[in-house]
Amino acid sequence: MTSENNRPDADILIVGGGLSGTLLAVHLLRLPGQRRIVIVESRSELGRGEAYSATDPGHTLNGNAARMSVDPDDADDLTRWLAEFIAAGGWPESDEQHAPVAELFAPRGIFGLYVQQRLAEAQALGAPYGSTVEHVRSEVMDLQTEASGIRLTLADNTRLSGRFAVLATGMFAAARTPQHGSNDLNAAAVDPWDIEGMRRLDPEGRVLIIGSGLTMVDALVSLEKAGHRGPIDVFSRHGLLPHVRRQPPAWPDFLAADHSIRSTRQLVRALREQCDQALAQGIDWQAPLDTVRVHIPRLWSQATDLQRRQFVRHVRPWWESHHHRSPPPSAQLLDRLLQAGRLSIHAASLQAVLDRNPGQVRISVRHRAEEQLTQVSGAALINSTGIQYDWRRVDRALTRQLLARGLVQPGPLALGIAADPGGAVLDAGGRVSGRLFAMGPPLRGLWWESTAVTDVALQAKALAARLRSLQEG
Ligand SMILES: Cc1cc2nc3c(=O)[nH]c(=O)nc-3n(C[C@H](O)[C@H](O)[C@H](O)COP(=O)(O)OP(=O)(O)OC[C@H]3O[C@@H](n4cnc5c(N)ncnc54)[C@H](O)[C@@H]3O)c2cc1C
Repeated sequence: MTSENNRPDADILIVGGGLSGTLLAVHLLRLPGQRRIVIVESRSELGRGEAYSATDPGHTLNGNAARMSVDPDDADDLTRWLAEFIAAGGWPESDEQHAPVAELFAPRGIFGLYVQQRLAEAQALGAPYGSTVEHVRSEVMDLQTEASGIRLTLADNTRLSGRFAVLATGMFAAARTPQHGSNDLNAAAVDPWDIEGMRRLDPEGRVLIIGSGLTMVDALVSLEKAGHRGPIDVFSRHGLLPHVRRQPPAWPDFLAADHSIRSTRQLVRALREQCDQALAQGIDWQAPLDTVRVHIPRLWSQATDLQRRQFVRHVRPWWESHHHRSPPPSAQLLDRLLQAGRLSIHAASLQAVLDRNPGQVRISVRHRAEEQLTQVSGAALINSTGIQYDWRRVDRALTRQLLARGLVQPGPLALGIAADPGGAVLDAGGRVSGRLFAMGPPLRGLWWESTAVTDVALQAKALAARLRSLQEG
């Protein structure tokens, strides 16, 4: 792309066209005023990212349709879209869940289609204003700030200029084994979503899975689809499994009524009391827990680093397993595997990948509260340890360059990058950028919960409004 008359290539450059970047474009296109939006995304399609590129119907959203609208002002948006999609024959297996549309757990690949349709509609809305969105398929390798805006360098050395840029780069796959580089684990591991790859495994072979969260649950679905019939051993530090998501009734928003709760300890105590009260009335503990979610960003951003560390150390495993819950169809499979004795969960942390030959892996683990290491062998290894939020440990050109140029600084607890509450990034000297913004998972340190559909949808709307006023200002 070239600039004519020193006019930048775009008003707004968006780096990453997953859910975050695409929803930001949707909101920008819907707003009055002309703006040229360029999304640089290495994948072939916008609106999908890792999560919504899933092709198997068994890899579903972890919330029902009523909870997963991308429109913060219209909670029924997905339910209505899904009803039409099902009526048009788009998801014939939906009746297997025996639930009304609002309560269905849709395949993530179908959710990606929903996001893409909302983008297409927004393009039509923006056209009369002269607004456009273009997908440039490449990876952004470098970013520089200039007096008049931002300049991106792409993988083929093409340069792109824009008045503003937004980092919507999403989550980076986990690169962690504590004592060993990620490469040992990742090189030995089968992708949790690669059903084709799993078909090539010995169907009777023992599969070892590292991590016991929702990615592990997806991996069980993938193995099942691939026809695996052998034993599965799951290793995670605490051995906690995600609870199944139920549909609890409404519960009073106790945190809205009590702003004195600030510390982790106060929060946990109050939540326990609320759960006990609910259980005493025969009401699901998930009801009070679900009221906490909207307050997490406020509580996290008010907390000191010490309190945040306490939360991460003591509450996080519990929070992950209770809050990030499993969709019922996958949870049923997990229960079946446990009951059949094929699935074993171990509270043990990976220490090393000792051998990784095709069809044969050997790892060493340390069981909780045990000193000695145990060696375990299997036919395959799956890495479901999640996400690397520390940008200093992410092995990508753009993140390295941004840190090296001092254009960003690590966020609280080194989770993602630092930004002001409206998403303007802070440079290494703590100055708030007037041109560079971030949204979604890179703001993990700012909000703690900055990843789920509802988080991203809210941020996209607010950031679009901010960019509009900057553009007009
Ligand atoms: C497997 C999985 C399942 C999930 N399931 C749910 C769920 O059920 N419910 C829920 O609420 N949330 C779920 N999430 C969380 C959440 O919805 C996603 O993480 C969401 O996709 C975040 O959107 P994003 O666009 O910020 O990131 P991503 O989807 O990760 O997209 C970022 C995009 O940026 C691109 N990119 C990155 N760097 C560059 C670069 N330098 N140049 C060009 N392009 C770049 C990547 O190619 C990628 O497509 C899930 C996440 C995952 C990974």
